[in-house]
Amino acid sequence: MITHHSPVQFQTKLPEEVDVLIIGGGIIGISTAWFLRQSGLKVLVCDKGRVAGEQSSRNWGWIRQQGRDEAELPIMMESVSIWRELTEQGINTGFHQGGSLYLCENQAQLERYNDFLGFAAKHKLDTQQLNSEQLYALLNNTPKHWRSALYTPNDGRAEPATAVPDLARACVQEAVLISENCAVDYLSITNQTIDGVQTERGYVKCSRVLVCAGHWSARLLHEVGIKLPQLSVKASVARTARAPLLFNGNASGSNLAFRRRLDGGYTVAMSDYLEVFPSVHSLKQASAFLPLLRSAAEKLKLRVYEESACVNPFDNDADYKKIAANRVLNPQPTTAALKRMRNRLDQVLPAMRGIPIVESWAGMIDATPDAVPVMDAVDSLDGLFIATGFSGHGFGIGPAAGKIMSGQIQGHTSEHDLSRFRFSRFNDGSELRLGPSI
Ligand SMILES: Cc1cc2nc3c(=O)[nH]c(=O)nc-3n(C[C@H](O)[C@H](O)[C@H](O)COP(=O)(O)OP(=O)(O)OC[C@H]3O[C@@H](n4cnc5c(N)ncnc54)[C@H](O)[C@@H]3O)c2cc1C
Repeated sequence: MITHHSPVQFQTKLPEEVDVLIIGGGIIGISTAWFLRQSGLKVLVCDKGRVAGEQSSRNWGWIRQQGRDEAELPIMMESVSIWRELTEQGINTGFHQGGSLYLCENQAQLERYNDFLGFAAKHKLDTQQLNSEQLYALLNNTPKHWRSALYTPNDGRAEPATAVPDLARACVQEAVLISENCAVDYLSITNQTIDGVQTERGYVKCSRVLVCAGHWSARLLHEVGIKLPQLSVKASVARTARAPLLFNGNASGSNLAFRRRLDGGYTVAMSDYLEVFPSVHSLKQASAFLPLLRSAAEKLKLRVYEESACVNPFDNDADYKKIAANRVLNPQPTTAALKRMRNRLDQVLPAMRGIPIVESWAGMIDATPDAVPVMDAVDSLDGLFIATGFSGHGFGIGPAAGKIMSGQIQGHTSEHDLSRFRFSRFNDGSELRLGPSI
């Protein structure tokens, strides 16, 4: 996990002018820079803290096609190929295709995925239903707690804390400029056209700006009168010491999710424990979020305020000023969630009893009302692009999202249908269709 204590690795001298300025050095910003690197455009990525300091190093590391929204699926399938290519090109991703399992205790749980199975087949994704015998042929050292599973063998995993910084290093080798500890304070606009950005280290002239600032995107856009509905959701995670091999991929079920790590341990989390922090902005758009909140009610816990989560429902302007002050948003993991996780681990996976948890952390997920991202140009502001709101599943799809945004910034038409990810869906009167999950 990367924090504000992690060394600064990217500190280019700020240029006076670039063609494209990317706000946010998470998986989305760095992947976009990667696909722009050979475009002939001069690209600068600014991050207020560290590359991948926030969600992009704190996530579970699942590269999951299984269970995706239908519109995301073809993009996600391309992303798996890109992860493979990046790894073959020597980027230290830790990518491994060990598959994903959704472990089911009964038939009703398995049937929840019937719709997905239908369109997975249409897209020729090799997702299968496993019976108990097939499932336990894949699992080691696990009691027969589950009866069946949904399985996608070519799903992958990667190591978030190394993958994105290493891709950033590869970008720099190909002339992309990256500046850490460089918060963007505001976008500079003349006649509804972007003309530059003001950073804490000076003004940079540019005509194209991509906002991919994760948890902070809505606040940054709010400053220029653009309303992005965004909800902040805290997720607590832990990693164990080296442990016996249970499954060499990603598995989730019985409220527990675990993913084999390259270091031989597991990244572990409660799949049913997410904490929602309303902000001034999300409260104003509360009605947009009601369907999502209702659909995920079992796993969501409402929280009012927590200093380390940096979402304050009573604090309006001061909120924005905290952007630079929060170099790396480092919410504290919730003790109750960690305790439940440990108990669940010991109950469900006896082979993990006595294996210590060696690190725990939390991350703030930025969710949209329909739990699918925005990847779009903003019609009302010439030169502004948004790629945010990846809603708990942006790491795996990040490389393909970066390719899409690189194309949009260069004015190319995507081979993917991006209508589901248009920014205008939040205010053009269309009915929002909920994606499968946060
Ligand atoms: C606990 C957890 C588990 C998850 N598990 C998975 C998973 O297994 N698989 C999966 O696919 N996804 C997962 N996700 C989701 C995934 O991590 C995110 O969707 C993805 O990382 C989002 O990337 P991003 O680049 O949009 O945002 P971020 O990684 O949050 O990056 C945004 C960056 O913008 C910077 N920034 C913000 N404001 C400014 C500013 N004003 N100026 C300059 N820089 C700024 C920040 O410092 C930050 O580095 C998980 C998320 C969490 C929190």
